[in-house]
Amino acid sequence: MHSSAPMSPGTYLARRRAAAGLEVEDVALRIETTPYPMNLRDRVAWLRNIEQDVSPLTISTAVALQQLYPFDGEVLIQLCVCVDNPAKPPPAICRVCACTQHDACRNGDMTCGWAEDDLCTSCAEEPRFATAHQCAPADAAGQAAV
Ligand SMILES: [Zn+2]
Ligand SMILES: [Zn+2]
Repeated sequence: MHSSAPMSPGTYLARRRAAAGLEVEDVALRIETTPYPMNLRDRVAWLRNIEQDVSPLTISTAVALQQLYPFDGEVLIQLCVCVDNPAKPPPAICRVCACTQHDACRNGDMTCGWAEDDLCTSCAEEPRFATAHQCAPADAAGQAAV
């Protein structure tokens, strides 16, 4: 298994949801379109299954999710293609927040760039993500110009 296996479509959605500061429960409360009528508990279970790539994601669900938190529909499609075709190069996605070129993090007028192939600058500068993912922040060195 190659170390840079593409992110799964479900993981992509989960990372984007978390980056928007939402819990699965928040999404379950707000989502307007479900494949069939569901109570809240079933909605939570259904959304978790989608994020774990257990339940299929329909286009209408993807559209409903996109009204709740931002993600790039094109990237989602490309990731689905990668599942079926491992030879296909995956799109560039931040491994922490899952932002992409067309769906960048914003800080005022600034948008993030790439600190590494799969790490955006806003996550690279965010110590709480660095600790959560056990990559030590580059302290001292390179911080003088702030
Ligand atoms: Zn990021
Ligand atoms: Zn970013």
